[in-house]
Amino acid sequence: MENIREIAVQTDTQLAELYWKAFVAKSEISDYAQVIHRISGSEYKKGYRYERIYIRPIEEAIESGAEKSWQQDSFEQTVVKFNSAKAQFEKYSIVIDELEKIYKKYFWNRAFYVPAGHVHKSRDCSTCYDSTEFTWLPKYSGGSEEEIVNDAGEEACTVCYPSAPAEVLNRPSVIVTADKIAKAEAKAEREIAKAQREAKRIASSPTRDGATLVINVGERKTRYDNESRSFIKLESFRFEELKTERTARIWYVDQLSNLENKSEEKAEIIRESCEVIVSALAEKHGVEPEVVRDELNKKVEAKIKKSEKERKAWEEREARSQVFGRN
Ligand SMILES: [Zn+2]
Repeated sequence: MENIREIAVQTDTQLAELYWKAFVAKSEISDYAQVIHRISGSEYKKGYRYERIYIRPIEEAIESGAEKSWQQDSFEQTVVKFNSAKAQFEKYSIVIDELEKIYKKYFWNRAFYVPAGHVHKSRDCSTCYDSTEFTWLPKYSGGSEEEIVNDAGEEACTVCYPSAPAEVLNRPSVIVTADKIAKAEAKAEREIAKAQREAKRIASSPTRDGATLVINVGERKTRYDNESRSFIKLESFRFEELKTERTARIWYVDQLSNLENKSEEKAEIIRESCEVIVSALAEKHGVEPEVVRDELNKKVEAKIKKSEKERKAWEEREARSQVFGRN
């Protein structure tokens, strides 16, 4: 009996591949035939979804040649491809017939899987359609129905396997198919990419846990009061959300290097917000706040110096242009 199982697995493994190759060849034949009909100007009627149903046989179309002479070259190339796909298909069909003859001698058990569907005993199952795509499971060919049903679990078709016990049908399937592997791999890839994006976001955020920093920017919100015809300061401050460490650092340097024209109240609020940034960054990098503050304050000083230099250069230029006139 074990011998028959070996024959079954071997035969059906070859058949699975041959049916697939024949399917590919058949769709190529139909694609090339459409091109041949079109270039040769075959008459057609419109089918379902506006597909073209050509009336004359493909042989006649090949015989008649391209309708426009300048298309004759590409027409002939397509005919060569059509004939080669047809020859391939015929070759596969012969081998398939031979192998199916072996099967018809023994009629061993087979199992077919419909991706994202069920495991069936045959491709003629009443729950499937003509268009249903089956994946062969040649590993189970020649095996017992019990073995197939045990592995298929909840994926076993109850029409094909009516005697399958309920407790088996409630078990998850252990059948591994290419589409399941691909699905699992794609899911793992998506999860890795998501984790990487999240890690990157946290690394660039101004806080240790990836949260954004919300800080007061020192301006009170105002509301126009129609009765007194004036703006009234509200007891809330305008705030800003700093999403990255980079924007937090830039904000700190920009604000502290530009305090001179601001009111004392506003300057105070900005200093407080800068301290919020300092503590967040210190916590994130595990250093003392002074380390962060010193580093940032050096940049503030450099920026103040730079803008002072720019202001002096501008003043000198202005003074010169008043003496010599602008050019
Ligand atoms: Zn079925």
